Amino acid sequence: MKAILLDDFGKALRVGEAPRPVPQADEVLVRVEACGVCHSDLHMARGDWPDVKAKTPLHAILGHEAVGRVVEKGKEARGIELGDRVGVGWVYSTCGACEQCKDGAENLCLDRKVTGIAAPGGFAEFLRIRASHAIGIPDTLAPEQAAPLFCAGLTVYHACKRAEIRAGQRVAVFGVGGLGHLAVQLAVHAGAEVIAIDVSEAKLEFARRLGASRVVHAVAADAATQLAEGKGPHVAMVTAPSKSAYDLAFRTLRRRGTLAVVGIPDENLSFHADDMVIGEFRIVGSAVGTRAEMREVLALAAAGKLHCEVETRSLAEINEVFARMQRGEILGRVVLTME
Ligand code: NAD
Ligand code: ZN
Ligand code: ZN
Repeated sequence: MKAILLDDFGKALRVGEAPRPVPQADEVLVRVEACGVCHSDLHMARGDWPDVKAKTPLHAILGHEAVGRVVEKGKEARGIELGDRVGVGWVYSTCGACEQCKDGAENLCLDRKVTGIAAPGGFAEFLRIRASHAIGIPDTLAPEQAAPLFCAGLTVYHACKRAEIRAGQRVAVFGVGGLGHLAVQLAVHAGAEVIAIDVSEAKLEFARRLGASRVVHAVAADAATQLAEGKGPHVAMVTAPSKSAYDLAFRTLRRRGTLAVVGIPDENLSFHADDMVIGEFRIVGSAVGTRAEMREVLALAAAGKLHCEVETRSLAEINEVFARMQRGEILGRVVLTME
């Protein structure tokens, strides 16, 4: 099959041939129709995160926002039929038995396997997935619309819950990229007053169209003053892969406010203990989401309440897509289609 291969970290990816995956007994083979390109794919390809890099095999096939049709079933694959349209995200499998799995937090499973690392991902014509972790796509959602929801959509949906966003709150979304533009919509939908922060004028203009009531350019000299206005946001959700975005968020958060950690720069975040004491801030990490949440996200999108801005590209264009992502030039999400 045709696939994008990661031959070496920090180098251009190669579009070549790879063996078509053979589904195990409890798996299905999916002919991929669409796979979104997440900034995490770029971090992985560059080898930005040492722990993840150590686990990523060379010649890996990345891609964890994959949607397609089931074309083959293993003997023990239940609850799923040939021809069904399904998707899979970052979490390839969970154990079902650990404390987290039993406690509604399977996204934190102690034996969590990751798509693209434990098994080849969706930047290919086919991928195999666990029948138990293949989520059905509503008929009304096109595959390229559904694909980015499997990481970007799910992640910010879960993060909104972790941050306990409520109607009437002021919510600052840092980074209006693949994740952030969906976060803006979810926070607006929750009844919050949304402030969007980015380093790109085009993204800020885009955030306004999505319902943000205010926008702030992250490098404006008075960015902190603008953000701190009205006692600052109740919630700062940082989706930008940037430490400086976290610094700005921390400096401007409302007292007793919540910082939601979503974007993953490869630098330690820092704060002075006294600021933390005086602010009584709450910091919540947020890691993708659960299968139940994934179904809720798909239902929201099918009901027209969440819309991903999508640009489709072919597998062969991956290096150009990564270069544009690095420069922050993509509006919404690029989705690779296999036609
Ligand atoms: P993206 O490239 O689509 O969007 C990033 C956005 O941040 C861009 O609009 C960019 O202009 C903006 N930005 C860059 N520097 C900024 C700054 N200093 N201030 C404000 N905005 C700034 O990326 P994405 O796919 O949305 O992913 C974002 C991050 O989230 C990545 O680090 C990714 O690895 C991470 N991520 C985390 C999870 C999780 O479970 N926590 C899941 C998926 C992705
Ligand atoms: Zn992702
Ligand atoms: Zn588990």
